[in-house]
Amino acid sequence: MPYFPLFLKLQDRPCLVVGGGEVAARKTQQLLKAGAQVTVLALEIASSFEKTCQENDIVLKKQGYDPALLEGIELVIAATDNNNINKQVARDALAKSILVNVVDDPDSGSFIMPSVVDRNPVMIAVSTGGASPVLARLLRARLETLIPASYGKLASLISRFRDKVKKQFPTIRDRRRFWEKILQGPIAEMLYAGQEKKALSLLEQQLDQDMQEFKSDGEVYLVGGGPGDPDLLTFRALRLMQQADVVLYDRLVAPEIVELVRKDAERIYVGKERSNHSLPQQEINQLLVDLAKQGKRVLRLKGGDPFIFGRGGEEIDLLSKHDIPFQIVPGITAASGCASYAGIPLTHRDFAQSCLFITGHLKDGSINLNWSALVQPQQTLAVYMGTHGVDVLSRELMKHGMPDLTPAAIVQQGTTSEQRVYTTNVKELPEIPDKYDIKPPSMIIIGDVVSLHDKLSWFKN
Ligand code: SAH
Repeated sequence: MPYFPLFLKLQDRPCLVVGGGEVAARKTQQLLKAGAQVTVLALEIASSFEKTCQENDIVLKKQGYDPALLEGIELVIAATDNNNINKQVARDALAKSILVNVVDDPDSGSFIMPSVVDRNPVMIAVSTGGASPVLARLLRARLETLIPASYGKLASLISRFRDKVKKQFPTIRDRRRFWEKILQGPIAEMLYAGQEKKALSLLEQQLDQDMQEFKSDGEVYLVGGGPGDPDLLTFRALRLMQQADVVLYDRLVAPEIVELVRKDAERIYVGKERSNHSLPQQEINQLLVDLAKQGKRVLRLKGGDPFIFGRGGEEIDLLSKHDIPFQIVPGITAASGCASYAGIPLTHRDFAQSCLFITGHLKDGSINLNWSALVQPQQTLAVYMGTHGVDVLSRELMKHGMPDLTPAAIVQQGTTSEQRVYTTNVKELPEIPDKYDIKPPSMIIIGDVVSLHDKLSWFKN
């Protein structure tokens, strides 16, 4: 072990930063976070750093390095751009047994500073023993995705209830079981989702129960899986996917995304081809309730965003009637995914000041839209489920005054390796699906912004 990991208490301890540049400023900020009493030593100092010093009661000494300044100091960071000075600071500090770090030169000092995942009061420090700060940063970035931003809140909650739990569950084994259930169950999830009050009262309630009665309730995560590229999942989506006991997914969710669900989770395909639903909507709604009532963590994984043409509202309606805890995780909707990956900005100061998301498919199979509202200058239309009704769409738009030559595009299987973009105009739009054998899912985008595709297209598959 090249370095011994430890967490140092620096509250009100005298620390010295030597240097006035950007790096010194960054290190100073870190020391301030730990409550250290910082002195900065710099011949020249960046103006923003000087301002930080003034605002934080930092003693700023505008002078060159002098070993006498180490008197009474407990920790030093040498961060000047002069190697010789840095080394000298390190030598002097080591001789006085003062902890010293030299920026970019781990060998000269006595300690290095790790990459930190900060979920105050939870801190995760990563070190590669000085071998590769880049690797440490990459590792940190991975941890950032796995650990909810509000993990700190959880730690605070635990410390508040520690004594009470100890009283209620006298044995270590019971206490451990209790906390394991709390930390992996709906109470923790509520906290991450910002429902602090609810989490608190549920925790109180659980504490009032006997261990025998203590059971973990199920919960439902209604998660948007984005348009297809797994890289477009949110951190939260990925985390919930990795802790669910059972997942219900449909045709729109790309197989690569289903792959990311916890390996031993039960998978239930609930279909949903156009007008050939493998499982009727009511049955899906009921299944979510039944599974949650069995105490399971149920992931309802949907394509795109659950609240945009995703029936998310219908599915959670029944959950709320049964008082089942749920949370909704937004996803990147097909319109933004397809538009970005096709190089078609949905709005643009020169071409479109508004964008409408519309569906070309209604419950009864017809298209019944407010056509005149759709035909407006400087407006983009993003049409979901529009390929089958594309001739009605084109005819009605022109009938209501849309110029025949208005640019239009069909984006097939957007954001995936199968993505194809076909551009045309609104008049000739109906010819595209047959001519190119368009496959679902596909998205129609209509408006002058489509003309930017030639210039801005970037995604090569
Ligand atoms: N909730 C989803 C939309 C569901 S409706 C969302 O927010 O994206 C299904 C329609 O979305 C499809 O018929 C198609 O028009 C569109 N769609 C979804 N994924 C798509 C993709 N990868 N490429 C093109 N269109 C897509």
